[in-house]
Amino acid sequence: MSTNPHKIDCAIFPGSFDPLTMGHVDIVTRALTVFNTVIVAVLDNPDKKSLFTVEEREALISEHFADMGNRVKVASFSGLLVEFAKEQGVKVIIRGLRATSDFDYEAQMALMNRTLTDQIETFFLMTSERYSYVSSSLVKQVAPFGGDVSGLVPPSVARALKQKFCHLA
Ligand code: ADP
Repeated sequence: MSTNPHKIDCAIFPGSFDPLTMGHVDIVTRALTVFNTVIVAVLDNPDKKSLFTVEEREALISEHFADMGNRVKVASFSGLLVEFAKEQGVKVIIRGLRATSDFDYEAQMALMNRTLTDQIETFFLMTSERYSYVSSSLVKQVAPFGGDVSGLVPPSVARALKQKFCHLA
């Protein structure tokens, strides 16, 4: 896919993505209207208990965005996000906002990252209202009990969740 000279080159969208939800997809889709490339960066945090391994999360993200070619790249990182962004030569971090409740935490992170480096800016994108209540944690609370999460997550993720929890059925 060719790049658009009117768009900014690249941004990084970091998160846990455990698992990818339609809320995340919405943010990536919106970001692609402004940036040529979005790197979806999965945080590898061994201290945080996760449902999917980093490799599984990366594979699910890659599968969902396969049609976007090079416009959506998937990576994982550990340690400081700003260091990873610098290594990638990226100057913009994207974060999604669902409601004012996200703001305090997101503002703290953005200001901390700015304290660490003034070469990287954080851009916030508001989600669609229809996904404003969706979170990976909510999906993980509902899926084990056979709750229908299709529509809240991409089909590949819905399948992966079914497989994870099939022993509970
Ligand atoms: P983290 O643990 O870093 O918050 P998440 O995977 O939960 O990782 O979220 C990654 C980013 O996606 C965050 O900026 C979060 O606010 C945003 N996000 C999560 N769910 C949604 C949603 N439904 N709509 C918009 N943004 C979302």
